[in-house]
Amino acid sequence: MAIKEPESMDDLIYFTNRTIAEGKVTAWVYKGPCPKCKKGIMGKPRDEKTGKVKIRAKEYICSECGHSEEKDSFEETLICEAKYVCPKCNKAGEAEMPFKRKNVKIFNEEKQKDVSVKAVVFDCEHCGERIPITKKLK
Ligand SMILES: [Zn+2]
Ligand SMILES: [Zn+2]
Repeated sequence: MAIKEPESMDDLIYFTNRTIAEGKVTAWVYKGPCPKCKKGIMGKPRDEKTGKVKIRAKEYICSECGHSEEKDSFEETLICEAKYVCPKCNKAGEAEMPFKRKNVKIFNEEKQKDVSVKAVVFDCEHCGERIPITKKLK
């Protein structure tokens, strides 16, 4: 499996770098091509006044034809790539999975119990451990 590490944040819709117990995960998602014209790149719309990207926008817009897609369903068609050190076996690996958030239970240190969170999940290629990439905890 050969994954390409991102060179610029401009190519990405998602990037995260986090520590999970004894392991760590760096994950990212490249922007996808427009499903309609196949030429443009789908990105978040820009504010007409400031030109800044609307990070909280609920849709993606094609840079060429203006076609828009609903944020969550479009993201699920994209691939999330990750480099990691497994928290269980401590081996390094690479993974690719759909950028689809599932409900998973993870142990919350502060609350000392399992909590349900949305996460992109993949399996360690060495030991099969399920590794969740959760949203950043507040
Ligand atoms: Zn397009
Ligand atoms: Zn492992």
